[in-house]
Amino acid sequence: MKEIIGKSVQAGISIAKIKVYKKAGELVTRTKISDVQSEIARVDTAIEKTVEQLQALYEKALDTVGEDSAAIFEVHQMMLQDEDYVDSIKNIIDSEEVNAEYAVSVTGDNFSEMFASMDDEYMQARSADVKDISARLVKTLSGTQDTDMSEVTGKVILLADDLSPSETIQMDKSKIAAFVTANGSVTSHTAILARTMNIPALVNADIDNINLYDGMDAIIDGGLGKLIIEPTAELSAKYETKILEAEKQKKLLLELKGKPTITLSGKKINLYANVGNIGDIAYAQTNDAEGIGLFRSEFIYLGKNDYPTEEEQFQIYKQAVQLMGKKRIIIRTCDIGADKQIDYFNLDKEDNPALGFRAIRICLTRVDFFKTQLRALFRAGVYGNLSIMYPMIVSLDEIKKIKTIVAEVQAELEEQQIPFAKDIEQGIMIETPAAAIISDVLAKEVDFFSVGTNDLTQYTLAMDRQNAKLDSLYDKHHPAILALIKMAADNAHANGNWIGICGELGADLELTEQFINMGIDELSVSPGAILSIREKIRQLQ
Ligand code: PEP
Ligand code: MG
Repeated sequence: MKEIIGKSVQAGISIAKIKVYKKAGELVTRTKISDVQSEIARVDTAIEKTVEQLQALYEKALDTVGEDSAAIFEVHQMMLQDEDYVDSIKNIIDSEEVNAEYAVSVTGDNFSEMFASMDDEYMQARSADVKDISARLVKTLSGTQDTDMSEVTGKVILLADDLSPSETIQMDKSKIAAFVTANGSVTSHTAILARTMNIPALVNADIDNINLYDGMDAIIDGGLGKLIIEPTAELSAKYETKILEAEKQKKLLLELKGKPTITLSGKKINLYANVGNIGDIAYAQTNDAEGIGLFRSEFIYLGKNDYPTEEEQFQIYKQAVQLMGKKRIIIRTCDIGADKQIDYFNLDKEDNPALGFRAIRICLTRVDFFKTQLRALFRAGVYGNLSIMYPMIVSLDEIKKIKTIVAEVQAELEEQQIPFAKDIEQGIMIETPAAAIISDVLAKEVDFFSVGTNDLTQYTLAMDRQNAKLDSLYDKHHPAILALIKMAADNAHANGNWIGICGELGADLELTEQFINMGIDELSVSPGAILSIREKIRQLQ
């Protein structure tokens, strides 16, 4: 038996086998070689093999998703055999006497940067493709593959060095009993996803070599931040009892289903859920969410290899809105950047991405991409109670620019005689100290505020939410943060607006009373937290 300690992201207990998740070609090392010719021959063979794989993918895609979507695999085959690309790889092997994997990786980076810097949009889009084919080629050369989750039967405790938000979003959630990562911080988006799925999760686990544990029996105790490997029969029995007790408690909480979220003195709080995709709406509904307070639309972009079209987005938003019936659903416009990186956006590398080109800053610069999303949202508004929310606001000027773009989008839809909702409620996130401080001015321009405490905390305390080393210093209850929330609440109400909290702090039961006293009208939390907050609110004056 071995006990590994990590940082708790989501409480809960699970008993299952461990599945180690490895990314192929994660680390390409540079090694000196002596036989240049045979290294070059390896490249030729690997290209041939990879082209065959791509042809098989093309044929499969042709059957399942049609010719237009399959065409990318044909393009990739051509790129892989492009003379300049192949020459560059061989030249690096020859001139530096290095291994093929390294030469492919360097060539991939060089070509990708070159494409990204071109003016032509089509060529810019090839930047992500060349990265993709190079990663594929490295995998063929090294004989490694990403862990194939399709082989997994039943539920497993997924153990990984780290997981990016895009990897997490693409996982088959029905196969995952819990997450444990050796790196990562408790406020990362991967951690947030684990909370949304309501499964036990640890990050920053004290573990050196994850490979040693593949296939072993384990218990995860999310609340205590422990992963117990090969537990004794006695301990397993103890945890089985705990699981039964937790199920009983869950049933008790379920008695609160359908009950109003109202204090003893009669103040009604809107208790909403945070979701990342359509599938999460089911979790929200099972837990009796009264609405959706934050639909992180960027996860739609993260799960793809190219920009989602207006039609694709429209179908997703429409479905989400329809699923919620008359209940309010707040969709946040694309908040990409910082830890949520997408290859096809071709964003430059930045020293401080959390303080960089992200969220509304990208939308107001790349107006066409923003308009596509807005068109889809305004069209979906026809089908229910949709609100739109804009992230990372720092100034009045940004709101004015958004309004101009929204007016253009509406005029275009009007002219094209495409049905859309004209009077959609529009609000902003208060997640920068700047927005909280000028919230009196901003409140006059919008319909509501929603406080993003995850970012508000990192920007107020000047502490990277991704940096696990800072977890012990990361004081989420810092008086400065509470003062900023109070300031925004007072300014919202003085202007006749409502205000909610959609950051993780909204689920902090130690603060629920303080939030109600501040006059917070809505709390939007991960679905699994809803019923315990309702229980708490119903006990408060
Ligand atoms: C926040 O910053 O609190 C928030 C809700 O947005 P995200 O966590 O997606 O940055
Ligand atoms: Mg945020």
